[in-house]
Amino acid sequence: MERFTKSKTMVFPREIIVGHNTTQQIAELCNRIGRGNSVLIVADKKTKKLSGDEIHKILKKANYEVKGKIVSKATVNEVNRVIKYANKNKIEIMMGVGGGSVIDITKLAAYELNKPFISVPTSAAHDGIASPRASLKHSKGSVSKTAESPLAILADTKVIMKAPYRMLASGCADVISNMSAVMDWELAHRLKGEEFSSHAAVLAKTAAQLLLDNADDIRPDSEESAWLAVKAMIVSGVAMSVAGNTRPASGSEHMFSHMLDHLGPGIMLKGKKYKRPMHGEQCGIGAIMMVYLHGGDWEKIRDSLKRIGAPTKSEEIGISKKKIVEGLVRAQEIRPERYTILGETGLTKDAAKRLAKITGVI
Ligand SMILES: [Zn+2]
Repeated sequence: MERFTKSKTMVFPREIIVGHNTTQQIAELCNRIGRGNSVLIVADKKTKKLSGDEIHKILKKANYEVKGKIVSKATVNEVNRVIKYANKNKIEIMMGVGGGSVIDITKLAAYELNKPFISVPTSAAHDGIASPRASLKHSKGSVSKTAESPLAILADTKVIMKAPYRMLASGCADVISNMSAVMDWELAHRLKGEEFSSHAAVLAKTAAQLLLDNADDIRPDSEESAWLAVKAMIVSGVAMSVAGNTRPASGSEHMFSHMLDHLGPGIMLKGKKYKRPMHGEQCGIGAIMMVYLHGGDWEKIRDSLKRIGAPTKSEEIGISKKKIVEGLVRAQEIRPERYTILGETGLTKDAAKRLAKITGVI
């Protein structure tokens, strides 16, 4: 008989607080965690005003030693700046108060410093609020890195609902794209014998399904929408923790999105009305196409995205048809070792064009 040699490490958040006005519980949360008295609040200019200042005040009142650091884009430089500052000030707890970039910078700095990381999202633009991965920007797009898993998450739906609705819709699209990610993972398991966790897959699909089923209830100016989105993101983060990698939430649709980032701002149609597309928006559009390739219910994905108010067509995010096709053709270059429906060589230009047309993306 073969000896049993399997072993696995799963890291989960110890405490998750979600709901209305939860900001007020931040000091109690830090008390319970009991990992030190000196806290660094990392925020950007906006999120400092939105929530950082309030948290600073509450923690100070509870006798914490609180420092603050303002950051901007998620780059290596910014992470290093935070690490330096935290070291100099003997920080014991790293707290990221903000959107994707702030959270990513803080969780990477916490990882390097080997300090606990508390995630305090002020928007729900992607599933990074609960995941152990972070993405850093560089001149040629972005790169995904291992980072500190949040020891605790505190999400205040009263704060999150104030963020632009586009961010929330994009975050929902990011979670819905778990559907194609899981299909890719199953395929890699069947075809390449890649290790697969059915529990992680079920969790990732449950998160997506929650949003597919409640698409009509996700709308602007609704605190319940923020609740649903954050809940789905946390379940998605847990799926990644169970898997020990991003497989349950990142497949060919994410490669397509990363390739669009890699192709740079030149992918945009001319015209002032377009803002740079968001990560989740690109992943949602990618998911429509990849689920089609898998033979799944891509129309359900498309219709739910529409209901939520997330884009389903290239022109809605200002990307030219040519670049959508190029993004599809070259997506597989992003992570050649991660087997997906795009196969080992990627799509041909004709196949990519046909796919984008059939699904109504272009
Ligand atoms: Zn994502």
